[in-house]
Amino acid sequence: VRTTTTTAPRRRPSPTVALLSLVAAALAAIAVACGSGEDEAASSTTATSTTVPTTSESTTTAPTTTEPPNDLIAPPPTVVPALDRSNGLAPFVRRVDTTDRVIFITIDDGQVREPTYLDHFEELGVPFTSFLTLPMAQADPEFWKGTLERGGLIETHTIKHPNLRTVGEATVRREVCEPADAFAEMFGRRPTLFRPPYGNSNDTVRRIANECGYAAVVHWTGSTNNGKLTMQDVVLQPGDIILMHYRDTLHADLGDVVARARAEGFKIGRLEDYLLPAS
Ligand SMILES: [Zn+2]
Repeated sequence: VRTTTTTAPRRRPSPTVALLSLVAAALAAIAVACGSGEDEAASSTTATSTTVPTTSESTTTAPTTTEPPNDLIAPPPTVVPALDRSNGLAPFVRRVDTTDRVIFITIDDGQVREPTYLDHFEELGVPFTSFLTLPMAQADPEFWKGTLERGGLIETHTIKHPNLRTVGEATVRREVCEPADAFAEMFGRRPTLFRPPYGNSNDTVRRIANECGYAAVVHWTGSTNNGKLTMQDVVLQPGDIILMHYRDTLHADLGDVVARARAEGFKIGRLEDYLLPAS
């Protein structure tokens, strides 16, 4: 709606104020990337669990009318990026190497599991990757199977959520490799991606990840906090990986990511379509 503007012009932020807010957003993103945004370890002892009703079939009934195409779903990759494993280390991926205008939703840990999250995934209809710790996966396999039925894939995020830079090699091997075996049995698909807690990895982590069959060690370029997405490069870039958590702000977090993707002309891709295991 437009109105005639006979009164004073609208107030706009001055260029200086706008620049300062961009700088502030960039600094906030850097702080998140440095680990301060991943505070889930502290809250793991207060985890809540919600039982998923067994009537989920009723929500998956195919619509009888023709739905409009989902404008958020990315087409298949134009080019699948080559991943360099020549040094025996699983590739480190912070942003996917692509020119496709596509971003990726990743959701970590698994403490808060609300049935309404499944409804939200179903409504969105876009791919997403859950990086779960083993105990959170074991706490509610039916909920996680519900995510698989709604476009999700399940990857690993250790057992005890340690800082892998500060533990011995035997512990790294157990934390990185055991969940892959367990998830293969629980969910019928062997995970191909590993995310280190707090984004803390090193060559030992990458070597062991490679040895137990992961395609990549996955970090991120932006994250959500209290319903607000903050990108390290301020605006979305092709291949950005968004970090979220299974916490009680997930609805708002998803909402902001989707709004940003639409506003900036991006679609949501499936990370596993771009980061393929060695053939
Ligand atoms: Zn985590």
